[in-house]
Amino acid sequence: LFDAVELAPRDPILGLNEQYNSDTRPQKVNLGVGVYYNDEGRIPLLRAVRQAEVQRIEAAAARGYLPIDGLAAYNKAAQVLLLGEGSEVIASGRALTAQALGGTGALKIGADFLRQLLPQSKVAISNPSWENHRALFERAGFTVETYPYYDPATHGLDFDGMLAGLKALPAKTVVVLHACCHNPTGVDPTFEQWQQIAQAVKEGDLVPFLDIAYQGFGEGLEEDASVVRLFASLDLTMLISSSFSKSFSLYGERVGALTLVTSSQDESARVLSQLKRIIRTNYSNPPTHGGTVVSTVLNTPELHGLWAEELAQMRDRIRAVRTQLVEKLKARNVAQDFDFVLAQRGMFSYSGLSAEQVERLRVEHGVYAVSSGRICVAALNSGNIDYVANAIAQVL
Ligand code: PMP
Repeated sequence: LFDAVELAPRDPILGLNEQYNSDTRPQKVNLGVGVYYNDEGRIPLLRAVRQAEVQRIEAAAARGYLPIDGLAAYNKAAQVLLLGEGSEVIASGRALTAQALGGTGALKIGADFLRQLLPQSKVAISNPSWENHRALFERAGFTVETYPYYDPATHGLDFDGMLAGLKALPAKTVVVLHACCHNPTGVDPTFEQWQQIAQAVKEGDLVPFLDIAYQGFGEGLEEDASVVRLFASLDLTMLISSSFSKSFSLYGERVGALTLVTSSQDESARVLSQLKRIIRTNYSNPPTHGGTVVSTVLNTPELHGLWAEELAQMRDRIRAVRTQLVEKLKARNVAQDFDFVLAQRGMFSYSGLSAEQVERLRVEHGVYAVSSGRICVAALNSGNIDYVANAIAQVL
């Protein structure tokens, strides 16, 4: 049966982790990951999460099945985080949400649904994009193309190229847009640019699929949702995949949500019934633990406040680390100007390092980064930043 099965290529980032783990140099640093580490170099367990977990254990609740679309209180809270308190879309019953297995699970349910709905359509992702976007939509049966996004010459956005690329897409093309903190570049459009992007999406009758995996890591919880709310204000029907993996530091609990904005309450009911079929035939229903913890935090005012504070601390630390990195590189008299790192947002930075420089960082210094030059700024801390700055200065 399995004779002819070919060995699949290794996931590039997970492969990098394996290499890192087997590296015996004590000063090694892994900047290849997509995870937030605190200043001690550990994945934090947020206090708000811990308190919700204690409550849950003390309640000794039974572990029955959740509904197919997950916990209602979780879904409602996820919607409010995206669309805002007092959202007209929510009030009019035009938003529906299904708890999903992380942001990835949300993308996959959405992709399966769209494939059934729009079998003739293609999908367009940014160039570059999170490496799983292409694979995931292809696996769902789509042909995946790219629209221009990053300009290596400026280390910024190729806005004209992006807009022209979007305008050239045929109607009903599914466009995957990173609503904040673009992975892998860290480069986001300005709000004014987003207004033009949203207009192009609307005029071109494109199908927006907003992916928001880092809400709260850019400017703030509300600010980072502004793109979602902009699209909603233009009466665009859309899909939104959101993730609490990073914002709750609950990577392994698989906490995400798929939210759809429809044209009417009646449409919402029909759409939800189809989504439930997709979920039912994939994994039946989502797990209880992570969803209950997130829901408890979001629906308990004190815990919500504590979580928002802890999230702000993560965001502020990342920003501080960006500033320190740039200053430390300047202090080492590197020829390149790294100020662009300060304008990037979220956990990642396209550092501008070439594949050879990344290779030298790994071989000569035990500093691991993705060959595209992507580094996870959130993996830098006071114990390793000088070492990393020295290493980068040496390979430049
Ligand atoms: N979308 C983007 C842009 C991401 O960067 C990630 C995670 N790195 C995801 C989706 C998936 O998130 P999750 O880990 O919650 O599945």
